[in-house]
Amino acid sequence: MAEDVRVRFCPSPTGNPHVGMLRTALFNWAFARHCGGTFVFRIEDTDAERDSEQSYQALLTALRWAGLDWDEGPEVGGPYGPYRQSERMEIYRDVADRLLAGGQAYRCYCSTAELDQRREQAKAEHRAPGYDGHCRQLTEVQQADYQAEGRVPVLRMRMPDGELRWHDLVRGELSFDAAHVPDYVIVRGNGDPLYTLVNPVDDALMRITHVLRGEDLLSSTPRQLVMYDALAEIGVGDGTTPAFGHLPYVMGEGNRKLSKRDPESHLAMYRDHGYLPEGLVNYLALLGWSIGGDREFFSLAEMAEAFELDRVNPNPARFDLKKCRAINGDWIRALAPADLATRMVPFLQRDGALPEQPTDRQRALVIAATPLVQERIETLDQATGMLGFLLVSDADLAMDPQDREKLLVGSAEVLTAAIDALQTLTEWTTTAIEAALRASLIDGLGLKPRQAFGAVRVAITGRRVSPPLFESMELLGRESSLTRLQSARQLAE
Ligand code: GLU
Ligand code: ZN
Repeated sequence: MAEDVRVRFCPSPTGNPHVGMLRTALFNWAFARHCGGTFVFRIEDTDAERDSEQSYQALLTALRWAGLDWDEGPEVGGPYGPYRQSERMEIYRDVADRLLAGGQAYRCYCSTAELDQRREQAKAEHRAPGYDGHCRQLTEVQQADYQAEGRVPVLRMRMPDGELRWHDLVRGELSFDAAHVPDYVIVRGNGDPLYTLVNPVDDALMRITHVLRGEDLLSSTPRQLVMYDALAEIGVGDGTTPAFGHLPYVMGEGNRKLSKRDPESHLAMYRDHGYLPEGLVNYLALLGWSIGGDREFFSLAEMAEAFELDRVNPNPARFDLKKCRAINGDWIRALAPADLATRMVPFLQRDGALPEQPTDRQRALVIAATPLVQERIETLDQATGMLGFLLVSDADLAMDPQDREKLLVGSAEVLTAAIDALQTLTEWTTTAIEAALRASLIDGLGLKPRQAFGAVRVAITGRRVSPPLFESMELLGRESSLTRLQSARQLAE
């Protein structure tokens, strides 16, 4: 039974992929992997006005970046394809015709103006404002008359009366009074099928067993339950209705739902800032699910191993960027240094700290310096600030004007003493550098470490915040270190 689990991730390719989408994809993926089931990726691109190729490509890139592989879908294929709804229009047309012929759907000729007018009237009379069933029982003759008037019908589903209930996998027993769910449109006047039709039709045809999706879609579930029954009656799919589970809302700042307008909702932001896919995915897993205990650090594979729906929490989850950064920092520290170095290189290149084709020496420097920054960065885009000084020529070392002012001016004596002490060193190692500087600046000049090493740090790295100073100087080498101290001394005088 468990092997038969089939779930789907079915976004519409509009706008930029956002974290809510990835969270939905992740939970579906983890459930499929946990059960040894199938993860179907379907593109719901039936709205030509809003869908874009760019957004479609961005979705594929996002899933791949996150490490969520799909078993059926775009570029992979599968037995129930095609997996882009824009390529399935014939299927929807055929199903719509059959629903009409079977009486589960009917033609509605009401104009927008008429619908508006009746809605206002219903409101004024304190009746439900939804569609009033005006066209439910039109005779052939009435329909012909409307056609003759030039009216173009939409197709509506005939909603039953009574209670619509289901056991939600996350929220438990739910029921809706069908009286509050009006007959809804499934095909537009121009023949375009709507989400209300194509989504359940494809779930039925693709044999989806579990629908895990955001709570914002909860209100469409009663309508879809009716659609599944109708599809069973006309023989579309295997006649079963999938189980539904609605994943909790993701809240942003100020107790509002995280919205597409919030910059932290855009997935591209995380890639640009150098989040690791492992880090972001780990954080998103915590938005409504728990692996047990207080454990918050785990891999995709561990999540898949442990993923049970009964640990999905129906309460809204709060998106906390600080925590997301912290978990990413944990992941950075967990990487093997060589792996981290490789991942930092594109960021160093992007920021101009490394050329397109780094030299062997530059590569070696990055690798050697990686352990110095591994504890100090939370995202890969911080690598340039930390390591840029090692990779730049002495002449090009950029100095923060404020740091320069504050720490170099008046430091001539300190820098002279540092140069004198370092010039005579016989070996250029972290230990020797540290001993020499302590002896001359702290013991010799009687300075506090912060005063003494602050100026040296700015001279060497151009900043007040840098990797550990003595290690950095060893990596930078004797010649460059002395050259930089000498130029700083000139500035200080
Ligand atoms: N295409 C729909 C959306 O992106 C899918 C909804 C669903 O999962 O049923 O909102
Ligand atoms: Zn009507």
